[in-house]
Formats: sequence, structure tokens, C-alpha cells
Amino acid sequence: MTNQDTIFGKIIRREIPADIVYEDDQTLAFRDVNPQAPTHILVIPKKPIPKLADAQADDTQLLGHLLQTVRKIAEQEQLTNGYRVVINTGNDGGQTVYHLHIHLLGGRAFAWPPG
Ligand code: 5GP
Repeated sequence: MTNQDTIFGKIIRREIPADIVYEDDQTLAFRDVNPQAPTHILVIPKKPIPKLADAQADDTQLLGHLLQTVRKIAEQEQLTNGYRVVINTGNDGGQTVYHLHIHLLGGRAFAWPPG
């Protein structure tokens, strides 16, 4: 299975539907199908980096752009009381889809530490 064959690759290529909230040349953001908070959005690079641990030095601009995109979407979603940003990475990180994604969660207060 190539990276492009993840479910998120299919969403990028519009082969399966998603509730897309933001798109630019480098990123796509859409609502999580199984939301864990009133607002739960996934922000992904169009480049199929499987997980954060696979990012390279030349991905620095892209990684920064992803976080700036999260910030803009949080503004768009009016998460003025704060929000949680999560990147699950690898097995111990609880990652289930191997296309790098940032979870933007908001609309309720979150506990710390995570389980
Ligand atoms: P992970 O556990 O890898 O950090 O997060 C993967 C996330 O992708 C989960 O929160 C899961 O609900 C979400 N997800 C999995 N398949 C789909 C899908 O087909 N569409 C959407 N919108 N989200 C999905």
C-alpha cells in the first residue's frame, strides 16, 4: 500500500467525501468523521508524509505552514476560549491513519495528562 492509498489520500483526490473547511496548495482541512469534541478538524499536508517522524529537513516550511493553518482555522471556528492541538505519531502515539495529520479540537475543556 502506498502512502497515497490512505483514506486521507482518497479525500485529497476527492475519491471519498469529506466536510472540507479549508484548502490551499499545500494543505487540506476537514471535519473528523468521529468527532471527540464539538469542533474536531484534521489538518493535513497534501504531500503524503506518513507520520511526523518521517518529516525531513526540507519539510520545515510545510510543518510551519500546517501550524499557521491550524491557527487560522481555529480563528475561523471562533475557538476564542482555547483549543487542543494533537499529533498522534506511531504506535505508542495512537496513530491510526498513516498520513501526517494535526487534530484541532475545541468547544470544550480538555483534561491533562492525556490517557
Ligand atoms: P489518528 O488516530 O491517526 O491520530 O487519527 C485519525 C483520525 O482520522 C481519527 O480521529 C478518525 O476518526 C479520523 N478518520 C478516519 N477515517 C476518516 C474518514 O474517512 N474521514 C474523516 N473525515 N475522518 C476519518
